[in-house]
Amino acid sequence: MNKPVYMDNNATTCMKREVLEAMLPYYTDIYGNASSRFYETGRRAEKAVAEFRERVAAQLGVKANEVYFTSSGCEADNWAIKGIADAYRDKGNHIITSSIEHHAVLGACEFLEKHGFEVTYLPVDEAGRVNPADVEAAITDKTVLISVMTANNEIGTIEPIAEIAKIAKAHGVLMHTDAVQAIGHMRVNAKELGVDMLSVSAHKFHGPKGIGVLYIRNGVRISNLIHGGGQERGKRAATENVAGMAGLCTALELANRDLEKNVEHMTEMRDRLIKGISDPVGKDRLCNNVNFSFRYVEGESILMLLDMKGIEASSGSACASGSLDPSHVLLAIGLPHEIAHGSLRLSVGEDTTAEEVDYVIETLPPIIERLRKMSPLFEGVE
Ligand SMILES: *Cc1c(COP(=O)(O)O)cnc(C)c1O
Repeated sequence: MNKPVYMDNNATTCMKREVLEAMLPYYTDIYGNASSRFYETGRRAEKAVAEFRERVAAQLGVKANEVYFTSSGCEADNWAIKGIADAYRDKGNHIITSSIEHHAVLGACEFLEKHGFEVTYLPVDEAGRVNPADVEAAITDKTVLISVMTANNEIGTIEPIAEIAKIAKAHGVLMHTDAVQAIGHMRVNAKELGVDMLSVSAHKFHGPKGIGVLYIRNGVRISNLIHGGGQERGKRAATENVAGMAGLCTALELANRDLEKNVEHMTEMRDRLIKGISDPVGKDRLCNNVNFSFRYVEGESILMLLDMKGIEASSGSACASGSLDPSHVLLAIGLPHEIAHGSLRLSVGEDTTAEEVDYVIETLPPIIERLRKMSPLFEGVE
């Protein structure tokens, strides 16, 4: 292989050339500040922002004035949780989420716990699924928000969001979903899901880094996370990232346009990996994700040896790497610490080839074998 085999598409994806080309004019010709309405250069940027908002809304099945651009998926998640907690504080101080959420959601919830909120972290089954009945049972008259992710970034579990949203609605509780991993891997229509808020991040579907969206249904009250200007209808200050919006919007349209074809290809590549290696963790997963756990070896050692062979993957989530703790997601699905430590996440993409998958299948087993021979834990076993 003359270029690295990239198997970490759940961490980020390669931006498409068409996306870059859609962005470039907004760095050069149409460089105006979209809030400068008194002259043509500003008005051109303002018009572009309005157009991108319409186009994103059409892709998510919502209205243009329900689309709020953010700087990332993490920001969208933080805003949804802290913004609702603050705006509905008079109603209650209880939030329900799952134990396998992205750290952006868990971190925001932990922050609120320090400020008088109570958070229920729902358990999941061995496949990583939240049981809607558990959600219903956790609702109290103090519950202001339910936040459950559409699809998990480590093990790819798809959660029953429409069902949970129905329960939320019946109890008059707002519902947010982090759909960052879902876009590009499955159809995501916020209206059909029935959620009140939904987070998106462009770089997970071949768009640029540093731009996201929070869909906020009309009628939902939400406090600002970022203060300081009238942008995003007064809800989120910061000079508009017009080029980023162009990129997000173009990438989202391409992802949805080619969804069936891409899902078929990624499913084929993922299944080829599974067949070539062993049984993966979890069921009902995204089309592009596999998470293996190898006993008696360290995930980080696997990554280092894979990297030496030009294979790029991850252990747990990119955000958690650097920490020695095993993944909170793998622990939540019931894996013991020593097995969760030996986890390897491989996530294929639209461009992954069968040749690359076969290279991984041929390279990985000797690496595991070599590491096991070095492991003191492995001695005396088998
Ligand atoms: C990547 C990711 C995020 C964070 O998005 P950023 O744009 O990188 O901040 C949030 N949630 C999930 C599920 C993710 O996979």
